[in-house]
Amino acid sequence: MTATLTRPPMSAAEFFAGRSFIQASAPGRVNLLGEHTDYNDGFMLPIATPQRTTVSMAVVSAPGYRFHSATLGSEAAFGAGEDAPSGFARYIFGCIRLLEARGVAVPPLQVHVDSNVPLGTGLSSSAALEVATLRALRRLLAVELDDVALALLAQQAEIAYAGVNCGVMDQMASSLADEVSMLFLDARTLATKLLPLPDAAEIIVIDSGVARKLETSKYNERRAECERAASMLGVPALRDVADIKAVEALPEPIRQRARHVVTENWRVLEAAGGVDAARFGQLMSASHASLRDDYQVSVNALDTLVDMLCAEDGVHGARLTGAGFGGACVALCRKGSAAAIGGKVVERFNAGGGSAGLLLPNSAIQ
Ligand code: ADP
Ligand code: MG
Repeated sequence: MTATLTRPPMSAAEFFAGRSFIQASAPGRVNLLGEHTDYNDGFMLPIATPQRTTVSMAVVSAPGYRFHSATLGSEAAFGAGEDAPSGFARYIFGCIRLLEARGVAVPPLQVHVDSNVPLGTGLSSSAALEVATLRALRRLLAVELDDVALALLAQQAEIAYAGVNCGVMDQMASSLADEVSMLFLDARTLATKLLPLPDAAEIIVIDSGVARKLETSKYNERRAECERAASMLGVPALRDVADIKAVEALPEPIRQRARHVVTENWRVLEAAGGVDAARFGQLMSASHASLRDDYQVSVNALDTLVDMLCAEDGVHGARLTGAGFGGACVALCRKGSAAAIGGKVVERFNAGGGSAGLLLPNSAIQ
């Protein structure tokens, strides 16, 4: 019988108590454009966050595993033949098991996790944990694994071991994106291209303070609606819809769902083709309207924050980011104005009873 236990957070040096260990890290991500397109074989434009998750590892002689998260103040220890207990250990254990399934012999390990990626706000701390874990394993065991293959294993760990039926964007972004470029990603071919942010622009990310309720059930419902739409249109995925008129003939609500996905892909393709900051902002705001009205994954707090951001001089556009039903929003603004605008909007939103927080820019880590 194994369990995850509450433990006082330890640093890696304390946890490994003088033994040598290796370390790897991976960032969270913010999706600038292209929401709910990844599982429709579509396009997206995420960027990596300066916030990162660091995973440290050491081989031990006693069989089994001991995982410590300094972020959570929690620890899981279990034997070699046992499954990981529920909770954060499953993400790490999933990565180990999937490498073993590829024929890699993974020795008994102690693993330490620390992170400044906020958990559960939509910056994808889970992908950062999986990618950092696999990078650490790749280094420790000298496994041959390119960054795309690593991202696919990380996605499998989340699906098969954490039970989240996610698309491929989060892990691809954590594995391949950087903090200064947008990663154009084609979910079908897994082709990627790093693109510059529009000139003289920077981003603001605000956590709405609203936990992502209903996310899993509604997410699965949206995925099923998209599959139904594609099958009624006779295409492999909504990415393949060439004519929006065919979408308009679908019954509700799948007409709205399909319209969001098709128009969202157009927005990403236009943005990736190279547009100025003002146009990029318009595309973001159009994306929010589409997510709110057609895909119906927004909540009041996100709509309010997006409206407040867009009302600020210097903001080009804003949208919810991540799957929705709570979580964070992102805005594009004039370079040099993000900290002031972000701070002001958070303060005003919270004065009305909200509990928003500024995630980017983050003076503590930049
Ligand atoms: P998001 O990926 O948007 O942050 P998720 O619900 O997908 O939210 O993932 C959050 C979960 O990932 C946490 O509940 C925890 O199980 C795991 N996790 C992420 N980062 C850490 C960490 N630093 N330490 C321990 N567990 C983590
Ligand atoms: Mg996640």
